[in-house]
Amino acid sequence: MALIAIARNRRMSDYVESVRRAGGEPIEVGAGGESPAHILARVDGVMLTGGGDIDPALYGEKPHTSFEPAEAERDAFEIELTRAAIAANIPYLAICRGMQLLNIAMGGTLIQDIPSEVPGALEHSVPEPRGHVAHEVWVSKDSQLSKLLADHMEDGETCHVNSRHHQSVAKVAPGFVVTATSPDGVIEAMEKPGAAFCIGVQWHPENFWRTGEFRSLFEGFVQAANARKR
Ligand code: MN
Repeated sequence: MALIAIARNRRMSDYVESVRRAGGEPIEVGAGGESPAHILARVDGVMLTGGGDIDPALYGEKPHTSFEPAEAERDAFEIELTRAAIAANIPYLAICRGMQLLNIAMGGTLIQDIPSEVPGALEHSVPEPRGHVAHEVWVSKDSQLSKLLADHMEDGETCHVNSRHHQSVAKVAPGFVVTATSPDGVIEAMEKPGAAFCIGVQWHPENFWRTGEFRSLFEGFVQAANARKR
């Protein structure tokens, strides 16, 4: 069974359940524990999770007024884990804050506050209920994400998602492509073409494990981890 390292956050249960239901064996990892190098020597996949704002100094910017104190140790740990996992082509799935961290770790930047920086933006901060659909996203047809979500999309490209973020990807990291946007132009997914599996999504697919809308995304991730294991 593929061993999946999940970056620790305050509310783990839906991430853990999503990985289990996809056939993976989750372990929680985080700052202050095992080093990224030791973790990557024994796991088959890495998953990053949601959380607070990442220190904007890490992408060379001053903090917006909405910035809330960052989790500096968590930022540093996850950046090291991300860079090493991607260098080793270890299957990697990044969710919400995780996708923002992926982009920063690989050289991109963020929009620090969507409401004040994106004119005409949709509402992207819809905290409850957690599995509530907030807006649609348009998925690029030739992407790995599109293949994974094929059975869940209307017209072959439209997908309904939840949304609990006030930041988003701005400049996309070199080597990555945008694979989904919401109708207001906010970037909602990215991936690394040619990687075994390297996908970031801005929404929270893990909240849908009871109804299974995004099970194929987690299954694709765990299958890639299993393939690496063999
Ligand atoms: Mn959104």
